Amino acid sequence: MLRFRFDNRFVRELPADPLTSASPRAVLGALFSRVAPTAVAAPRLVAYSREVAALLDLDETTVQSQEFAQVFGGNAVVGGMEPYAANYGGHQFGHWAGQLGDGRALTLGEIINSAGQRWELQLKGAGPTPYSRRADGRAVLRSSIREFLCSEAMHHLGVPTTRALCLVATGEGVMRDMFYDGRPRIEPGAIVCRVAPSFIRLGNFELPASRNDIGLLRQLVAFTIDRDFPWLVADGRAAGDPDVVAAWFAEICERTARMIVEWMRVGFVHGVMNTDNLSVLGLTLDYGPYGWIDNFDPNWTPNTTDAGGRRYRFGQQPDIAYWNLEQLANALLPLLEQTRLREGLQHYVATFSSGMRDAFARKLGLASCTDDDVDLMHDVQELLERGEVDMTVFFRRLAALDPDAPSLAPLHVAFYDEAKRTAEASAFQAWLGRYVSRLASDPLTRDERRRLMDAANPQYVLRNYLAQQAIDRAEQGDESEISRLLELLRRPYDEQPDHAVYADRRPDWARHRAGCSMLSCSS
Ligand code: AMP
Ligand code: MG
Repeated sequence: MLRFRFDNRFVRELPADPLTSASPRAVLGALFSRVAPTAVAAPRLVAYSREVAALLDLDETTVQSQEFAQVFGGNAVVGGMEPYAANYGGHQFGHWAGQLGDGRALTLGEIINSAGQRWELQLKGAGPTPYSRRADGRAVLRSSIREFLCSEAMHHLGVPTTRALCLVATGEGVMRDMFYDGRPRIEPGAIVCRVAPSFIRLGNFELPASRNDIGLLRQLVAFTIDRDFPWLVADGRAAGDPDVVAAWFAEICERTARMIVEWMRVGFVHGVMNTDNLSVLGLTLDYGPYGWIDNFDPNWTPNTTDAGGRRYRFGQQPDIAYWNLEQLANALLPLLEQTRLREGLQHYVATFSSGMRDAFARKLGLASCTDDDVDLMHDVQELLERGEVDMTVFFRRLAALDPDAPSLAPLHVAFYDEAKRTAEASAFQAWLGRYVSRLASDPLTRDERRRLMDAANPQYVLRNYLAQQAIDRAEQGDESEISRLLELLRRPYDEQPDHAVYADRRPDWARHRAGCSMLSCSS
């Protein structure tokens, strides 16, 4: 039996939309709308994360039960759940987009687990809400597989993220025009249950501020601090106290900086860093047309919708996160002096730069990172770009370099293009020479260095083509690759000899294939 202890603070403490129909509308003066999931034809569990099940105190029998698929397919609302869609706005691709809201996400409730932790359960793809505008509130299997796998893969890589409990097939088709080329097709539908302490986004604050509803803004800020940042008021201060709000904003900036450092460390490209897709808790949120860097290319974005301006390209993510935080700062202006908001933004800059230094030190296997080491890293990144070299393979293999005889040969497998490798060989050799002479002045032993590097440079990431292979097979009825990848990516830093092929650079056939190198927002 599915039994949770619910404590639905969001709906209990914040103002609700008085209407309960799912018809699209502007929702003023309220932070959410009550709306139930829409039932589907044949919900069936495809995969689940055992770690997340454990967080929610769910045992295997419960997860495999009919009731579980019914509830997480949106066909049953069990006692204590109070489903709602949140009302938020956002800046999309640099422009204010007004009210957006949960158009196909729907929170079932907030549970308290046996360890006393609060977890919000949210279905993605469970049907229309007042925020669905002209869309259907559904999600296709391919994007649901991607969100499910990547949420868990990121967690195991040590990147702050929302989690995913399960992936449920709906047994219904969903119409999508994948490349916006006027050739829609029916695709299998699915629902992911996402799990996080909070799904509040930067855009939740921007919307009431944009409407000059300062009372509502103040209420949401106080609520968020009380529920999601309780340590800031542990000394008895009120959540509305300007010092508390300033500390809160600085903490959001800090968490965002830490998250971006981790993205840059592992080669993750979010793809749609709109302010409605950034969590106040600094969790990676809303896995849409995201992608992983294969050959190191700061200009790469997986998102075809963004192909023109490349706003959300890999190398620009740190600046975009700052820009997004500036939008939040603007929204908070009615509550806080500008200087304090500027201090928060400065905190982003400082945290990001020290975090990046730390990441560089770990990736290169150095006890600490000097200014020269930053140059050393930037120089190799330039070479990786010019030489078309796989980021993940290169850094992982760098740990095996013999400092007494630094040779490029063991790194050949990281190169995508023979001609470029030959052309850049001497530049790489020169860099390796600089690197080993730097290692000579570093206090770490060879073993210590290897351990440090192996814990910072993953062996396995969810390469775009790997996710696409799991999708292709699942669409043909074989879902086994989903669980295989989930299992593999639970230990991304470990050598797994039976799965060595998953650590190889992207195969040539995947270079320009849809889903492997480019994705649209259609999901
Ligand atoms: P995204 O770029 O996926 O974060 O979505 C931006 C906005 O569009 C959000 O308000 C989503 O809830 C909404 N949205 C995206 N896809 C759908 C869909 N299939 N049905 C309803 N709303 C959607
Ligand atoms: Mg979104």
